Amino acid sequence: MFTVPTPTVAIAGSTDRFPVRRIFCVGQNYADHIREMGGDPDRQPPFFFSKPADAVVDSGAELPFPPQTQDLHHEVELVIALHGGGSDIAAADAVAHIFGHGVGIDLTRRDLQAAAKAAGRPWDMAKGFDASAPVGPLTRGAPPAAAAIALTVDGETRQSGNIDMMIWSVAEIIATLSRLVTLAPGDLVFTGTPAGVGPIRPGQTVSGSIAGTAPISVRFRA
Ligand code: MN
Repeated sequence: MFTVPTPTVAIAGSTDRFPVRRIFCVGQNYADHIREMGGDPDRQPPFFFSKPADAVVDSGAELPFPPQTQDLHHEVELVIALHGGGSDIAAADAVAHIFGHGVGIDLTRRDLQAAAKAAGRPWDMAKGFDASAPVGPLTRGAPPAAAAIALTVDGETRQSGNIDMMIWSVAEIIATLSRLVTLAPGDLVFTGTPAGVGPIRPGQTVSGSIAGTAPISVRFRA
């Protein structure tokens, strides 16, 4: 009838590409970001939401500015790519399911998210729009326990933290998520963002980095 292409993510140092099955995201996994959003990290545990698999975008892409927003925000995040899976995975076994890791930007239509929150409605149209999940080339293997994570807009630093500040560790994220859904090869997990989220304007270039892995950079058309 017709073919539907499988979305893929680049792999550092290889012409192979990682096929994407699903994209899960952790919300509110850094205490400083919870505070900047008006929350209390002692009272609000992290949680999950999703983006469509075809929201992935390669580093170097030039993107149309997303429609229906006056407040597009950047959230730089460690992304985990799974080549294993299953349900009820023990945290101690989680690393064996990791293919690799990279840098992602959880693009967010913050105005639509605020309206959804106020109305008690789903976040899908705030988080899961076209090209809302830029991901840089994956580095094989599990991420280090600690590494600097940062984001710049037109060269100006907006976010700067360390992945060791995550409330749920990568192992805890995989274990917790696997109790909610059966994880499978091709699943990506965005693990949450540190403080400093903020607006992107048309024409700007947004670049994310994690020490030790390939960076991500995308430009929005004016
Ligand atoms: Mn996020």
